[in-house]
Amino acid sequence: MRKYLVAGNWKMNGTLDEAVNLSEKLAEAVGDYTEVDILICPPAIDIPSVSFCIRNTQIKLGAQNMNANASGAFTGEISYNMLKPFCQYVILGHSERRQIFGEKDAMIAEKARAAVDNEITPIICIGETLEENEAGKTVEILRFQLEESLKTLTADDEIVIAYEPIWAIGTGKAATAETAQNVLAFIREHMKNKFGQVYADKLRILYGGSVKPSNAYDIMSQKDVDGVLVGGACLKSDDFKAIADAAIQAI
Ligand code: PEP
Repeated sequence: MRKYLVAGNWKMNGTLDEAVNLSEKLAEAVGDYTEVDILICPPAIDIPSVSFCIRNTQIKLGAQNMNANASGAFTGEISYNMLKPFCQYVILGHSERRQIFGEKDAMIAEKARAAVDNEITPIICIGETLEENEAGKTVEILRFQLEESLKTLTADDEIVIAYEPIWAIGTGKAATAETAQNVLAFIREHMKNKFGQVYADKLRILYGGSVKPSNAYDIMSQKDVDGVLVGGACLKSDDFKAIADAAIQAI
């Protein structure tokens, strides 16, 4: 059985004090959860401090981005060697990285390879824009993103895929549970054709986009949904706890 993953993407929010405060609250609220995996992804600069705050808990730590190189002349970047002592996961190809910073699938594929080679599990984000959705192109876009951004990977590599429709991110307009299920079933089928049944059965696929306590259970009770990637609602410990509780209820 696939273990649910409830992941919080803090994005570029909070001061150091706020990061410490939120980590301490989460350590208290969900620190001993073992039925589902709890993951928080703070801004890179806060990672060592947050790591210290959650050191005696089950909470896992992730980064929001990573460079595919070990070191070198890459101003402003952070390598897997820097993340490795702290992080078990890294979010790659988030739509904000794709849309604002121009990240392409080929670059995401390189990062995914580097992450896996360094025992950091990549959470690879894919999703269509509103325009593409309305034009009925969702499957076509996702198929392309899956092929191109997973190009460097094989059936031996553990990854997580997050379906994050761009029209649902930060808009308050989540996909319905039915849509999430249909799209995630398509992704699992695609991965089955690519890497085989055993791989597809083990692969964790998340839904992300305006997940909140009120819709988390419905979404996670769908057969192919193995957890959620949460933006806005993960910045409030009560809301994040409620979403983690919904995951446990949905098991
Ligand atoms: C995200 O940015 O990954 C996200 C899902 O954001 P929100 O939950 O705020 O829509």
